Order: sequence, then structure tokens, then C-alpha cells
Amino acid sequence: MSTYHYLECANHNPPLLSDDEVEQHRDTETLDKVRELVRNRATIVPLLREEKIGLPDDRYLENALRFLVFHEHCKVNLVTEYDEREELE
Ligand SMILES: [Zn+2]
Repeated sequence: MSTYHYLECANHNPPLLSDDEVEQHRDTETLDKVRELVRNRATIVPLLREEKIGLPDDRYLENALRFLVFHEHCKVNLVTEYDEREELE
């Protein structure tokens, strides 16, 4: 059974959801990488902006990073299509 996951910015009211999913299943390695991206975005987003790194090959990580570029300093949660919410910080 698939479970779509999205990133959510809690600084917006109502919270803003990423347009694209960052994973379609639970408990995957990709989800761990998404969590890591969120936690390390203060380092990663500037590198991306300065074109010192490119977007990840993985479609889900790319979706996550595209969202994080606009929410570099916001409180970002991981949510599922069933509105389960995981705070990452
Ligand atoms: Zn935001």
C-alpha cells in the first residue's frame, strides 16, 4: 500500500504543503534522506543556490529540495496523505 509523503511549512497559515510528494511509501531509505535534507538545509540550500551542487538524481529528493529552497528558515514537517505529521526539528 502506498502512502504519499509531503513536506509542510508550518510557518504559513494555513500550513503550506509541497506540490510534489517526497516519497510514496513508509519506512524507506529515501525518507531518511529527506529527513536529513530538511535538517541540513541551512548548509545544502546555499550550496545549491550558488550552483556548487546540483539537484539530486532522486526524484523525491529533488522535490524535497525544490520545496526547501523556498522554506530555508521555516519550520518544516513531514506529513502523509493521511495527515500524520512528523516534526523534524
Ligand atoms: Zn515557509
